[in-house]
Amino acid sequence: MTDPRPRTSPFPKGTILGYPRIGRRRELKRAVEAHWAGTIDAAELEQIAARLRRDTRERLAALGLGRDDSSIPESFSFYDQVHDAAVTVGALPERFAARRDPDGGIGLGAYFTAARGEGEDAPLEMTKWFDTNYHYLVPEIGPETVFAPSSDRFAAQVAEAKADGYTVRPVIVGPVTLLALAKASDAAPAGFDPLGRLDDLLPVYAELLASLRAAGAEWVQLDEPALVSESLPAAPAALADAAARAYAALGAATDRPALLVTAGYAQLSPEAWRALAAAPIEAIALDLTRGAVPETVEGLADKTLVGGVVDGRNVWRGDLEAAWAGLEQLRGVGAADVAAGTSTSLQHVPHDVDDEAALDPRLASWLAFADQKVGQVVILAAGLVDGRAAIAEALAEASAALDDRRGAPGVRDGAVRERAAALEAGAFERGDYGARVAAQDAALGLPLLPTTTIGSFPQTGEIRRARARHGRGELHADEYERFLRDEIARVVTLQEEVGLDVLVHGEAERNDMVQYFAEHLDGFAVTENGWVQSYGSRATRPSILWGDVARPAPITVAWSEFAQSLTGKPMKGMLTGPVTILAWSFVRDDQPLGDTANQVALALRDEIADLEDAGIRVIQVDEPALRELLPLKSADQPAYLEWSVGSFRLATAGADAATQVHTHLCYSEFDVVIDAIAALDADVTSIEAARSRGEVIGDIAESGFAAGIGPGVYDIHSPRVPSVDEIAELLDRTVAELPLRRVWVNPDCGLKTRGYDETVASLQNLVAATRQIRERV
Ligand code: GLN
Ligand code: ZN
Repeated sequence: MTDPRPRTSPFPKGTILGYPRIGRRRELKRAVEAHWAGTIDAAELEQIAARLRRDTRERLAALGLGRDDSSIPESFSFYDQVHDAAVTVGALPERFAARRDPDGGIGLGAYFTAARGEGEDAPLEMTKWFDTNYHYLVPEIGPETVFAPSSDRFAAQVAEAKADGYTVRPVIVGPVTLLALAKASDAAPAGFDPLGRLDDLLPVYAELLASLRAAGAEWVQLDEPALVSESLPAAPAALADAAARAYAALGAATDRPALLVTAGYAQLSPEAWRALAAAPIEAIALDLTRGAVPETVEGLADKTLVGGVVDGRNVWRGDLEAAWAGLEQLRGVGAADVAAGTSTSLQHVPHDVDDEAALDPRLASWLAFADQKVGQVVILAAGLVDGRAAIAEALAEASAALDDRRGAPGVRDGAVRERAAALEAGAFERGDYGARVAAQDAALGLPLLPTTTIGSFPQTGEIRRARARHGRGELHADEYERFLRDEIARVVTLQEEVGLDVLVHGEAERNDMVQYFAEHLDGFAVTENGWVQSYGSRATRPSILWGDVARPAPITVAWSEFAQSLTGKPMKGMLTGPVTILAWSFVRDDQPLGDTANQVALALRDEIADLEDAGIRVIQVDEPALRELLPLKSADQPAYLEWSVGSFRLATAGADAATQVHTHLCYSEFDVVIDAIAALDADVTSIEAARSRGEVIGDIAESGFAAGIGPGVYDIHSPRVPSVDEIAELLDRTVAELPLRRVWVNPDCGLKTRGYDETVASLQNLVAATRQIRERV
């Protein structure tokens, strides 16, 4: 009997699971934003996108991936890969139905409208993709969702590559992950679970696979990272069961390409591993950087295992010997074949170290961005084909770089290490909260329901231009300093006029709340072109934390001191916390994160002492990323919370009892981290709350959280000005549930993305509402 399925070539010996799509110079960002602004039409945008895809293919082939063996992934996206999959199967919320093509298809217009919203129609929600800083668009799925093929983009991209002589492997979010990440639509009844629609969705995926085969794809990659997570609404067993059903169904088709199912970001659950091994698919990719080589199970004899041994999430050249050893071990699991791969898509790393001319060459030799990681995969693949001896030299070179890094100046700084090693428990303890409250009340004399903001004021075009000119050397340091001082003075006067109680200097000197500190601390490097997509057309440029962290000089003190000199009201010093600094940087991989966090914490501790000496009595240490780094596996969470909370405490515990320590957290999902937030032991915590008010206040009240708390009274993501009544109503509810003496009044987050008009109007209303409540209570 012959296999009825058309013959496909075997899986290549090496591949990457995806490549950055924003372009080496953020060309896609510029093109997409120009299209939104109406300066280029859809046809021109499509042309630019096609050119980027071609550049990527050519680049990957030049780096050593095969043109025609399906080792080049096609992972382009105009905005987000989850949205791509949702749109392809027709999962567009009802409110955007009018945006569909006359034949029901979903074109670029509808795609972008759902991503960005239009008028009263809110965009799809955005949330973090597993434990990364990438945000995906949350599909909305209900009983009313009609699954039907609605876009032939994936097939068109396969055909486009084919015409250029490439056989690419399209990368698509798999059906289980698509549903597991979706939320119930507005029309869905209470308790509706999108995963219940799996059987309706599968025929559409089957059709999609057939169309990809017809377009010339020999292999298709379906990404199923949901199968590693313990942090989704669906339990691992339910997800594994869904995977078993999904791949039994998809695998059964005869007119399909060969299937690679990937599970990055952590270790596959044992149930899911068994389910995938037993499924009629041809290859499984495992993340061996964040998971161990799995046990032998039934069903592997005819499958290829792709060992994700090259880390898709960090920027280190890493240990190639260890990667090779991982592949050798994987060969022992009993699969038909083993290939080398990245642990995840490379969308989480910048394009190319060779684009960083200003980077110290020694540091650069320790790094691998996407292109260098492709090179590593190519080396490992050659080893799998020709044997270890063939790549021994390359392995030795990588080990030599690693050795060089270990011994290089700055990687280990004796003084920093001695100080960290000598820490005793007392360094993490601030002392009795009640005594602190009394000391702070006496020192600060604040009214009931004190008002404040989260730190930044609008970053106007003028501010950005001045910073850029200063960076290019066109604006002399003295002039730049004068410019910033004028800006601070303006912001202080404005806050006094509005009548706020605790003022801020406005953060005009900061390009970014993490990079600013990275630029002023030893142990960090910053890149010129190291952009990484954050969401849609937005990208960030994470700093590289490569060595022991020390503070050569005070960072924020002069600005805060100057700002305080302009007012009799307390000026709040503004720092970014250790966890957030780690979360939004690329962090060294040669020691536990907790050790690195403590080094950052000690630098901040010194900064706090200097702020106090300069007369600053209120200091805020922002930790908006505390929840983001929470591990996907429940078993790993306690250890994480221990070091993350510990580092915050280490940073702040040196403060005098009379110094009021604030923290700020940017999300309202308090649930799993509420105890951790309390354990930070800040005197005042401001949180995002305006969008899910009732819930947040209820959660806080229930948890017995006893310190100062400022649930944001308005959403800063929109230019809308909240009315006095609306804020007063929120405050009424807040003071009804939380202890009156502990409540603060503030917006949800910093104001840097807002304009001045709405900012002033909103803050005026905030103060007016607060005064009303003060009179009433
Ligand atoms: N202090 C920062 C600001 O106001 C906080 C930003 C944040 O929480 N993301 O901009
Ligand atoms: Zn915030």
